[in-house]
Amino acid sequence: MRYAKGIGEQRAKILNKLGVYTLQDLLSYFPRDYQDRSVIRELSELQSGESACVRVLVVSRPVLARIRKGMELVKFRIADETAAADVTFFNQSYVKNQIVSGGSYLFYGRFQRNGNRLELLNPVFEKAETAGGSTGRIVPVYRLSAGLSQKVLSKAIEQGLDELAGQLPELLPEELRQKYGLMDCTEAYRDIHFPATMAAAEEARKRLVFEELFVLACGLGRMKVRRREQAARVIPAVDPEVFFRSLPFQLTGAQQRAVRQALADMACGSVMNRLVQGDVGSGKTVVAAACIWAVKQAGYQAAFMAPTELLADQHADTLDKLLSPFGIRTVLLKGSMRAAQKRIAREALAFGQADLVVGTHAILSEGVEFQDLALVITDEQHRFGVEQRAALAAKTRQPHVLVMSATPIPRTLALIIYGDVDVSIIDELPPGRQRVDTFAVGEGMRERINRFIARLVGEGRQVYVVCPMIGDEEQTAMDLKSAKELHRRLQEETFPDLNVALLHGKMKAAEKEAVMASFAAGETDILVATTVIEVGVDVPNAALMVVENAERFGLSQLHQLRGRVGRGQHKSYCVLFQGSDGGDSKTRLEIMTRLSDGFKISEEDLKLRGPGDFFGSRQHGLPQLQVADLASSLDVLAWAQREAAALLERDPELESLPRLRERVERLFREKISG
Ligand code: ADP
Ligand code: MG
Repeated sequence: MRYAKGIGEQRAKILNKLGVYTLQDLLSYFPRDYQDRSVIRELSELQSGESACVRVLVVSRPVLARIRKGMELVKFRIADETAAADVTFFNQSYVKNQIVSGGSYLFYGRFQRNGNRLELLNPVFEKAETAGGSTGRIVPVYRLSAGLSQKVLSKAIEQGLDELAGQLPELLPEELRQKYGLMDCTEAYRDIHFPATMAAAEEARKRLVFEELFVLACGLGRMKVRRREQAARVIPAVDPEVFFRSLPFQLTGAQQRAVRQALADMACGSVMNRLVQGDVGSGKTVVAAACIWAVKQAGYQAAFMAPTELLADQHADTLDKLLSPFGIRTVLLKGSMRAAQKRIAREALAFGQADLVVGTHAILSEGVEFQDLALVITDEQHRFGVEQRAALAAKTRQPHVLVMSATPIPRTLALIIYGDVDVSIIDELPPGRQRVDTFAVGEGMRERINRFIARLVGEGRQVYVVCPMIGDEEQTAMDLKSAKELHRRLQEETFPDLNVALLHGKMKAAEKEAVMASFAAGETDILVATTVIEVGVDVPNAALMVVENAERFGLSQLHQLRGRVGRGQHKSYCVLFQGSDGGDSKTRLEIMTRLSDGFKISEEDLKLRGPGDFFGSRQHGLPQLQVADLASSLDVLAWAQREAAALLERDPELESLPRLRERVERLFREKISG
């Protein structure tokens, strides 16, 4: 890094920790907030606890007092036309020599009222005639790391801006700036750090958000073009009606549409990369089955990846029922199988005796040999990575990829999270589905809920109770319900006459399977579990989902959990126990009681938590975004995507915009290597 002035070896190291290596990085290190010190306030109007900037005279000589060892105070008095205040500095004795009685200064800090007296502790100050650095203007607030102060950082950035003034590369075409009223890049970089008004900061942010998303959209768009150019197996278009007619139910319009879109993708000669989004229970599995069916018609194999062994079992079962009438042979492949069984399954795939393998993400990612694999379906996994695709396709051409997700996110955002995909949305539930009545309750309702459980079980129903932890984690300070402890209590104390079972992620696969099988068979009344049951499990007789410490879960996760009930003909319920009432947890849980549409819930979740949290940091594998807080920038994201698509249409290699092209390449190089 060419160090800016004031940034020596030591500080450069600290900056590196923040991801800042070059001057350009430094300028792209945007404030996380601002303090408006531009408004000069009058002392008489200040409330206790208020932070404000004032222009004052120092009306007494600063005095230094040592109150005890290692504790020094500098005290003096300030006044403007309206009132006076007492200023105290702790352990900054040098201030005594910087402040001159009778001098005019700007002070910024937090004021306290103490009876009649107005007090100011450890403020920032500048001489009135040279003010405008840390007072009298809008001051940026940066995310810091130990050993770095706001002052040093903002000085360095200010100097960097001066140094690079006029040389910052303008990435956006002039006509786009015109069209959306975006400022030029020099102005934007200046105003995001040192805005004259808050409105200017907002304009700068808008421009930089647009730029960031535009670069990203251009990169993703180019990936898509590349994908289109890859040779793929052609799955000749077949009429899916033949398959549809074999089903015991009529597909919804949305399901049929998703199937036809996927079949069209696979027939067109380039590699499919399609995301099928549909709320829990919307019937994504048959969509997958229809695609597998078409692939088999063309003489190829398919792989179906599930997130857990439990789900792999269920899916293998379901798919086999749907597909065996067409002569499609399914094998299961999962970690807990014996070596000999695995070998048999692998050989069947290698020699083409099996048409479909269902397994866990983990085992299929290790690489399996196929006779001719044409389609990979992944269920409930946010991303099917480039590496995984490569592993599966190691020996052959790229397979088509179908990703199925019940985490509904806005389409624009899906493009960012999943990268270069086409999206099908199943926005229709099969007929006859009922709403799950949901209640957010506190510990005070425990007795009543227990009686409710007893009543439902008495009617023949089954109940899930989900806890945030297993119970043998290190004892934490937080008071969280653990599955083991709650299982013991429910079985021994509350419901000694009922069958209460325990299911958690650390149990052996065979144990889990046995527990799940017994619950599915109706032998267990209450299943106490961790989130291992989050996705996919299908027990239509279960009519109540109780979630302990519901505040610990994301809304989308709660929605998934709730989707475990209401799958049969029985009226179903969801009870969310709130362990602590801190923060926004109450509002969040109330959203669950109000909304049943997964898309709406996920939008609320996005608003409350931001997409970073939502998907786990970096899970999407795309570059970390600097300015674009996606949840609040969805409209800008839509513009950026539209414009990027239009641009790539005209100029697929970005030859007319070399600087933009260079930036796109850099961003995606970093992505692949990082
Ligand atoms: P998800 O989208 O959550 O994976 P599934 O594929 O597991 O949903 O489907 C949920 C249930 O709905 C299954 O029992 C499935 O057989 C049933 N189902 C799917 N599509 C329909 C339909 N069109 N009409 C009636 N039932 C359907
Ligand atoms: Mg599913």
